[in-house]
Amino acid sequence: MLALRLYGVKDARLEQVDEPVVSPGTVKRRIEWAGVCGSDLHFYAGGPSVPADQEHPLFHEQGPHIMGHEFSGIVTELGDGVTGLSIGDLVAVRPNVWDGTCEACLRGEPNLCDNRGNIGYDGGGGGFSEFVVAPQENVYKLPASFDAKLGALVESLTVAWRPVRKSGAKKGTTALVIGAGPIGLGLLLCLKAVGVEQIIVSEPGASRAALAKQLGADVINPMTTDVAKYAIEATSGKGVDVAFDASGFDENTLPSAFGAIRVAGTVVVVARFHGIVPMDPKDFLFGEKTITGSYSYTDQDFREVIEAIDSGRLDPMPLVSSTIGLDEVMTRGIEHLLGDGRATEVKILVSPSLHA
Ligand SMILES: [Zn+2]
Repeated sequence: MLALRLYGVKDARLEQVDEPVVSPGTVKRRIEWAGVCGSDLHFYAGGPSVPADQEHPLFHEQGPHIMGHEFSGIVTELGDGVTGLSIGDLVAVRPNVWDGTCEACLRGEPNLCDNRGNIGYDGGGGGFSEFVVAPQENVYKLPASFDAKLGALVESLTVAWRPVRKSGAKKGTTALVIGAGPIGLGLLLCLKAVGVEQIIVSEPGASRAALAKQLGADVINPMTTDVAKYAIEATSGKGVDVAFDASGFDENTLPSAFGAIRVAGTVVVVARFHGIVPMDPKDFLFGEKTITGSYSYTDQDFREVIEAIDSGRLDPMPLVSSTIGLDEVMTRGIEHLLGDGRATEVKILVSPSLHA
């Protein structure tokens, strides 16, 4: 089958590899659609998460590994002992794996497992291919209201769902989202899905700002507007209840989120920062403000996103900006997003059955 494998820094190759084989407790799926994620760009530009000559402790496979971890598929084969799934079912895959035995797992935080890993960059195949075999516990049968494109969007929405859940946002909450990339726009959709009505989005890029506005946000440009000042004025001088940094762009974004929240408000870090951010700790004391992070997701987050989409409260389809074939995943996908595409694309979906 055709697959995109990451060999090293800026060395990803589309090539023929053996089809994966089912074993007891696993499910084989034909890939329908797979999303290109910021993490794919991160590992392509910086090199594989696990060096090619080492094995991830839960996958026991040496690289190069197949890329792509946001994908939907149709079940084509079931391993011995698999129950509750049938050939032909449309499924989504939760790509993260955990050991179930470390302290974090036993505390109920498997997303923070000592041995965590991901299908699609640490081993176990990936979405930029034609077939994947994964453990049944990672495979979610989708309700009849889903089509395969929607199924491929569940994973990236779940990355946004968890921080919204952790923030406690609900009807009546006021919110600020910094950055309207795929995760920031996902935060906007998830906030709306839990009933939040007043959502300010800070985004300098014109096309992403326009999409955030279309999706119901009050959009400001941080290059021309003081974000914290605006958020305080827009909430009658109080500050917003919750703020999310989905940008991580520079040392200004997080302090502006912190300056925008009310006393006892919460900032959730969702972005991958590339440097140190100076903070003034007196606000933690005198304002009893909280700063926390949200990393990956759990089974609960994944199930709640599927339920929210099924019920109609969450519709991520407006985030799809392009659909391309697997044979174009480098040129019109990863390399495009690392270049001009960043300004115009949000979510690019890739299918092995589309051809250039
Ligand atoms: Zn663990």
